[in-house]
This record gives sequence, C-alpha cells and structure tokens, in this order.
Amino acid sequence: MASIPWLADVLREAGVSVVEEGDWRNRGTGGAFDPIGVLWHHTAGNPSPGNPHPSLGICINGRSDLAGPLCHALVDYNGVFHIISANSANHAGPSGGSGPIPAGNGNAMLIGWEIEYNGVDTAMTPAQYGASVTATAAVLRRLGKDASYARGHRETSTEGKPDPAFVDLDQMRADVAARMISRFAFVNSAGQVIVKDGSHSPWENPINGGGASKVVLSGQWIGIMTGDTFWAKSGIFGNWVGMAAGAGMRDIAISGDRFAFVNAAGQVLVKDGVSSPWPSPINGGGASKVVLSGGWIGVQQGDSFLAKSGIQGSWRTMADAPGLKDIAIDNNRFAFVNGAGQAIVKDGVDSPWPTAINPGGATRVVLKDGWIGVLQGGDFLAKFDIFGGWKTMASGGQVSDIALGGNGWFGFVGSGNFLAKQGADSGWLQMAPTGSVRSIALET
Ligand SMILES: [Zn+2]
Repeated sequence: MASIPWLADVLREAGVSVVEEGDWRNRGTGGAFDPIGVLWHHTAGNPSPGNPHPSLGICINGRSDLAGPLCHALVDYNGVFHIISANSANHAGPSGGSGPIPAGNGNAMLIGWEIEYNGVDTAMTPAQYGASVTATAAVLRRLGKDASYARGHRETSTEGKPDPAFVDLDQMRADVAARMISRFAFVNSAGQVIVKDGSHSPWENPINGGGASKVVLSGQWIGIMTGDTFWAKSGIFGNWVGMAAGAGMRDIAISGDRFAFVNAAGQVLVKDGVSSPWPSPINGGGASKVVLSGGWIGVQQGDSFLAKSGIQGSWRTMADAPGLKDIAIDNNRFAFVNGAGQAIVKDGVDSPWPTAINPGGATRVVLKDGWIGVLQGGDFLAKFDIFGGWKTMASGGQVSDIALGGNGWFGFVGSGNFLAKQGADSGWLQMAPTGSVRSIALET
C-alpha cells in the first residue's frame, strides 16, 4: 500500500501555502491506496475571509454516515492547503472511469482536494483555483503522470455527484498542463537566477542573491553554480541543498536523480541521489565539462570526448579532436564540435562518426528529442535529425546562448534578451527582455 508522506513538502516546494493538520501522515481509513491521479471536489461549505475553512473538522473526522478523513487536503478560502491525510480517504467513492482513470475504487486511485465553497451560488476564489492548479501539477509531476490524470468528482462519480461546480475541467487540465511541462530559467548579469513554471507565467523573484554563472534544470531539480559552490533545490520554493563546494568549480549537471560536477582540478564527481555521499572522482583530472543523459556520463577532457554508461561503467573514448570545443549527449545520440567548429553527430555509441553536419565555425552543439542545435557565428541553427535540413532559428550574429527543451521548445539569448518558442516554425516569445540575460535553461 502506498502512502504520500511527501505531500506537504511537494506542495511547499511548488509555492503552495500549507498547514499540516495534526498527525496527517498516519491518518487514513485503512483502505487500499496506490494513487495515480488527483480529484477535485467542492465542500458545499460557506467560507469567508474571517472563517476560511468551516468544513475542516468534518473533513478530518468524517460524518455520522461516512468515516473520516474525507480528503487529503482542504483548500481554504485563501487558497491555503490544509493537509489532512497521507493514506486512503473517503472522498471519491466508486469510479465509473474518466479519461485515464479506470472504473473501480476511486478512493484507492485518487488523491482528493476538497475546495471550500458552496457550489450553489458561489464559485471558488481565484486564490483557491490558482493554488489547486499549482498543487495538482506538483503532485502529478511527483506521480509521473500528465495533466489528464486530474479529474473532477462529477466526471468519475457513479452516484451523480455535481462537484466541483463552476469550473471548466478541460480548462483546469490545460492550466495544470501549462504548469507541469515547462520550466524556464536564466542567469542575469548580476548572477541572479530567475525561474518560472509555465511559459506565460510571471517570473518569480530571483532564487539567489547573485554570483551564479550557470543554471541547470532537470525534472523538479534546479541547480546553480556560483563559482565555488554547487547548489540544488527541488522546486522554485524548495530549500537549497549545498551539493559541493570548492573554489574554481568548472561545471555542474543534473539528470533525473543523478548529480555531477567538475572541480578546479578537472576531476569529475558523480552521484545518484541528492543525499548520497560523493564517491571518488571518475577521472584523473583535466576535464572542463560534464554532461548527463539517459544513463550516460560524458566528459570533455582536453581534446577528448569520453563517455561511460553509469558511474561504474568503463570509459570509452568517443572522439579525439584537437581543439575540441563542445560535447553533447541526448539518450543514445552523441555529438561534439571539433577545433574547426564542425559539429559531428551520431546515433548509437558504437556507430562510426558520419561526416560533419556543418562546414565549420560552430562553438556549441545541443541535442534534444531528435533536434540538433548549433551556435555558429552568433547565429542559432537547428535541424531535425542528422540528415535533416537546416533551419535558421536566429540570425544577425547576436546569439550568445542556445537551448533545446522537450516538446519542441527552443530558446536562445540574443543581445541579452531571452526568447523562446514551442515549434520550430512558431513565433518567438519575448521571455525576459531585460538586455542582461547571460545564459538560459529549459525543462519542458
Ligand atoms: Zn466530491
């Protein structure tokens, strides 16, 4: 039986206000519980600014005809999440099946929010809606499910439940999806790192005081390098974890739950799990860059591109290229830029390297989900697949950083401005027209 003792932390890390109600981790009905989705309800209560959660006691203790807890969290008038249970709760009843949620025991499959409004002549407040969308996105990200796993009780109920009233559930899922699939970050000229979830959301306040030279994003993780420290946090509002310290740090990387950095001597250290100790360096020194993808660890070390599968794997020399400028790995695709600025890309670690995909002049290569991007003479060029045709993403010689995200996202820094778009042929969004953007990261 699964439990969700992480619920309060995951919500706080997403920026939701949380009150933990008593011994919520051990509160439950004792029924089966292995959640795959989130279900929205309304309480039929009548909250007000002075009495924001009149149904809290009933949600915890239940009614004469139904044992508590009656939900996992009550969302009060102000959008504060009162966490009630980490185990099975009596909120969903039988499911008739809705979207990807099958028919069966809804209480076993669904995490429930009771949103405190009456649903007859009163809708939820904007604060309640915003917090519920953010919380649902954070929980589904944690469960590894997409926004279609967010449902309303009136969609799953076999008993004609009308809740949650006054909310378009397709719009709710679209809003949850926008929160889930896209995180954007940049470093400004003061070394402040600024992050937001959702391409059209406002930017949050800087997450650090300054001094950062690089930001990386992977899943819920945000990592920054400040010159002598590798910091990481889970979610924009999570607490910083000091991953590693040491003057002259050269690079950092995160992929899933794997963390890596290059120290001042060019030694690469890699560990699995944020709280694990760092094992011994995986190389003797001399590296300048580390990349992680799909189990692969890639290192740029002098003129050599080295790679191994897993921390304990054996090193392979992928390429020796005098003046090596950059390396990249995306799952089973490998790429580097040689001293002449030619980008060379192959699929499969044991395949031979085909001819270069450009005549020269490139300084960077990036890979993601079939797309290949190069930074060449201040222009951003991209193509889909090794033998695809080039698309000029940005020209004019002012491009200083490029990035590819999942789901067809592209980003670049041009003249200090951050532009991004979803779809190679879409129009660019002005993400941060500050003129002071140095570098960017996408997790989409
Ligand atoms: Zn309900």
